[in-house]
Amino acid sequence: MSRPITGTTLVAGVVGNPIAHSLSPILHNAWLDAAGIDGAYVALEVKEDGLQRLVEGLKGTSFRGLNVTLPFKTDALAAAGHIHPRARRAQAANLLTFAEGRVAADNTDGLGLLAAFNEQAPGFDPAAGPVTILGAGGAARGAVAAFLDAGCPQVRVVNRTLARAEALTAELGGDPYGLADAGAAFAGAIAVVNATSAGLADDSALSFPLAATPEGCVVMDMVYKPLVTPFLVQARALGRPTVDGLAMLIGQARPSFEAFFGQPPPRDLDVRALALKALGA
Ligand code: NAP
Repeated sequence: MSRPITGTTLVAGVVGNPIAHSLSPILHNAWLDAAGIDGAYVALEVKEDGLQRLVEGLKGTSFRGLNVTLPFKTDALAAAGHIHPRARRAQAANLLTFAEGRVAADNTDGLGLLAAFNEQAPGFDPAAGPVTILGAGGAARGAVAAFLDAGCPQVRVVNRTLARAEALTAELGGDPYGLADAGAAFAGAIAVVNATSAGLADDSALSFPLAATPEGCVVMDMVYKPLVTPFLVQARALGRPTVDGLAMLIGQARPSFEAFFGQPPPRDLDVRALALKALGA
């Protein structure tokens, strides 16, 4: 970053634990540079119980806001005075903005998910058929809400702990499935999204019966380290089109940038290439 930090520099950041390997500072600072905005985006690591205190301290300052990542996405809701309906539905917030001492919570993960499909599976229409979400945590909740809001006629939720899938679908809509019934949940699906934290390492790779998906079913993994997860390798071996988690990460960062700095990030900068370099991919 060649821009000087001055007394008028706008500052925003991302909070999580751990946070050192977050790609968000790379994305946002590259966009700030390209847009010529006097701004800076920093990563903050806080202790497990520290989010509330951090927000209390920052909300009356000139700090613009925070992206929020694990394990604070639920705490972020409690820290906000105003909650966007999509964050309330997801019961998780990945974006806090500060203005005049007030804190607003939003969730841009669902927007990022749909943007990723738009970019990497052009022509995909969420209203064209059933979509299957794997997982029932915060990311899955956001995905279910995003697909239902986009007109998807049926969202199927498959989870290791069936009771969590049942609770999620009872609240948001959709149909719950246990892992043993994943094949039935894949039949006729136009997309399958892995929103579990499994697959982060090869030894925890998901073994789902992806062969039960129809030809042309788009397979997406929210995990982006590695970029091509064992789940996506399995999908590609079956000839299924795939969408990766990095496209979603960039897709959720775009509306966050606009919320912090008042304008959309420049489109002509290849931040994906920067992120891939940082990932060593
Ligand atoms: P979470 O709330 O902790 O939920 C984790 C989910 O994974 C639960 O449904 C859990 O099932 C399931 N799970 C964990 N290990 C499993 C295994 N070995 N086999 C089957 N299911 C397993 O996490 P989250 O916040 O929803 O995040 C989920 C993933 O999405 C994370 O990897 C996160 O990094 C990723 N994510 C990516 C983006 C992006 O921009 N690319 C954005 C948001 C999240 P149980 O209910 O049975 O425990």
